[in-house]
Amino acid sequence: MTNTNNLAPAGGIVESELKTTGHVHAVGNELGGMMAFSDLFTALAYFFIPVVLTLFIIKHRELKFKRILVMFILFILACGLQHFLHFTSHWYPTPQLLNATMAFMAAISVITAVMILPILRQVSAFIQERGELEERLAAHNVELESALSLANDRKLAFEQSERAFRAIISGAPIGTAVVTLDGRFSLVNKALCDMFGYVARELEKLTFQEITHPDDLDTDLFQVRMLLDGVANNYRMEKRYIRRDGAEVQAQLDVSLVRDEQGNPDFFVSQIQDITASKQTQSALKESRHRFLSLLKHLPTAVVVHRSDSSIEYVNPAAEDMLGLTEDQLLGKSAVDPDWHFLTEDGDQMPLDDYPIMKVLSSKRPLSNYTTGVVQRKDAQVRWMLVNAFPIKTAAGALDQVIVSFIDITEHKKLQQALKEQAQTDPLTGLFNRRYFQETAAREVAQARRANSPLSIIELDLDHFKRINDRYGHAAGDKVLVAQSDIIRQLLRENDIPCRVGGEEFVIIMPGTDAHEAAFAAERLRAKVMSADIQLENQQILRWTTSLGVASLEDGDICIEDVIQRADRALYQAKADGRNCVSVAATG
Ligand code: GH3
Ligand code: MG
Ligand code: MG
Repeated sequence: MTNTNNLAPAGGIVESELKTTGHVHAVGNELGGMMAFSDLFTALAYFFIPVVLTLFIIKHRELKFKRILVMFILFILACGLQHFLHFTSHWYPTPQLLNATMAFMAAISVITAVMILPILRQVSAFIQERGELEERLAAHNVELESALSLANDRKLAFEQSERAFRAIISGAPIGTAVVTLDGRFSLVNKALCDMFGYVARELEKLTFQEITHPDDLDTDLFQVRMLLDGVANNYRMEKRYIRRDGAEVQAQLDVSLVRDEQGNPDFFVSQIQDITASKQTQSALKESRHRFLSLLKHLPTAVVVHRSDSSIEYVNPAAEDMLGLTEDQLLGKSAVDPDWHFLTEDGDQMPLDDYPIMKVLSSKRPLSNYTTGVVQRKDAQVRWMLVNAFPIKTAAGALDQVIVSFIDITEHKKLQQALKEQAQTDPLTGLFNRRYFQETAAREVAQARRANSPLSIIELDLDHFKRINDRYGHAAGDKVLVAQSDIIRQLLRENDIPCRVGGEEFVIIMPGTDAHEAAFAAERLRAKVMSADIQLENQQILRWTTSLGVASLEDGDICIEDVIQRADRALYQAKADGRNCVSVAATG
């Protein structure tokens, strides 16, 4: 463009020279022709540039700084026009038009110069903005790359977890399936296929509704509805399925609803266990338990089942009857209860460790024919029980329950007691008999020896009793014997043991009593008898007397017989001394 401006004065010189010399004119003509063509090509080039730029602007309407570009287009166009006018002025000079063009170009130059500064500022701002933009873009790219890498990692992790999920399902030992929201098995494992008798691709075409027992479908669908409604996240139920071969499968079903990231239901995971066998066992067990309980219910033997903590778990009606307590009063109570206590066979308070249940709990062994008295607080009556008890252990060997059975032997016990007393007692007088005397005397001697305490016996024989019988009759004699026994009972101390050892012969064992005390007691007895009398049916008064021999245990004595012998001799002596007297055996 600078060249273009310089061409204008150069053209002017050429024009003035043309007017002065002919030689120069020839040279000038040659030169002028060359310049004219230069102007033409320059003009054409200057026309071409604006056209291209204009087309460019039209194509890129979003282009910034279009106005300055328009100014440049106009400026180049003006330059082109100027060169074109120079070209034409070789033949048709148009100085006015050239001047006008120059004026237009000057105007355009001034306007462009005015516009250029603010536009340069804008350009520089734009460049700065562009730089910042590029920086941001670069940062954004970094972020994008890291996001992409993260997404890639996530994709890998997702694929991994997907593989793990499938592996878990297919390897699960119990039937497991992924079920779509409409109930189709979308993924099933081998355990489930085996359970239902299908291969996977068959089962994966079915819905759970199609293979559910019709009677159980509504319950299942109700539960599914609960999951979908968000009432619960999972459910468990027992239900029946129909196998491929038409057989029923009793199963325990566990269903979980899996939701997507937005919390919307996505699919179900179902775990299904075949419990047909355990159900059958369970029902057989139930049946057996029912039979067992009804057997216990009708059994005449009382049965109480204790738990391992001794609390009562079960009582049968016979036990309720026997104990006089209702089931409600018994269940849950332990063997130790303020409402009752136990007695030993001898009638003593039973120590806690000897309670039947406690014995089995501590020894873990059965207890056979154990006699115990049960005393209830409500009536203080003793009920005698013959108890059998045995422990029930768990498969692991731990004690689980103790079954106690018992029969009421109260009547038997009373009879036994009566028989025992009968065997020991003289029926006429109620005193102990000869057999009891023999058993007890030996025991008492042994006891006295152990305790190193004295022991004496008094032998008592009625005087001339034969005469009483003979004179007043046998019945009167019996009456005397009874009266004699009463006197003995009245005068003796608690520890003394009075026995009728023969027809009209009595022996009194006196543990803890020495010869002196025994002699004193014998004398009191003799005196009491002498002052006593009985009235016969015919109103006759009858009196009698006794002779008494006293002997005591001595160091050299081996057994009771030694003492008895001395007492015999003393009694014999008393008879010999005239009867109605006491004779004390000499020691040694
Ligand atoms: P003694 O003073 O020497 O002891 O003379 P006794 O008559 O008491 O002695 P004896 O042994 O000769 O007679 C005892 C009599 O006791 C003989 C018998 O008829 C009588 N007797 C024995 N048992 C009973 C009985 O259970 N009831 C009655 N009434 N008499 C009996
Ligand atoms: Mg006699
Ligand atoms: Mg006699």
